[in-house]
Amino acid sequence: MAPVFIFDLGKVLVDFDYSIAARKIAARSASAPADLHAFLGSSPLLVEYESGRLTRQGFYQAVSAAIGFHGDLTEFGSFFADIFSEMPETIALHAELRRRGFKTFIFSNTNDLAIEHVRRNFPFFGGFDGYLFSYEVGAMKPQPEIYAAMEKMCGRSGADLIYLDDRAENIAAGAARGWRAILHESPAKTRMALSSLIQF
Ligand SMILES: [Mg+2]
Repeated sequence: MAPVFIFDLGKVLVDFDYSIAARKIAARSASAPADLHAFLGSSPLLVEYESGRLTRQGFYQAVSAAIGFHGDLTEFGSFFADIFSEMPETIALHAELRRRGFKTFIFSNTNDLAIEHVRRNFPFFGGFDGYLFSYEVGAMKPQPEIYAAMEKMCGRSGADLIYLDDRAENIAAGAARGWRAILHESPAKTRMALSSLIQF
């Protein structure tokens, strides 16, 4: 049976930069952009949000209280989510796999503001067979629960899954389940790794 392909989203298919959000949010808050940059990308509140333990509204309220943000949720959401740009080489690689008939899935630690933004702005995002998001599952990579949920969604396990992710701890957790896991460092390296698994 043909393998299925599991794609991480951030730093694989889309790049992101929290400093863009930090500048816009800082202009409407009591905090400096540099402080906010560190805060947004690594706050325990983001983990709570992306684990599904905080709603969008709850995240907005907690962040606003922490940094003194004056805007409403709509404004916050537009600033917070507009941090992504497409990564054309891996998007092209994905399109090539689709043309050849492989099933593909998105497997991401993320939140509903980010996904709404990516879905609206990047057409490539519509072209997958399924989407597994940490905030919907209630677990984040590298927790085993979300890998089990991915196996259930695609109906396959072990070496039937070929998995691309830019984070070593996520790759290690996939490899521990027998997935064929590739650490995405550059498009060229990933193509090389894939060419040893399937014919290009
Ligand atoms: Mg990533």
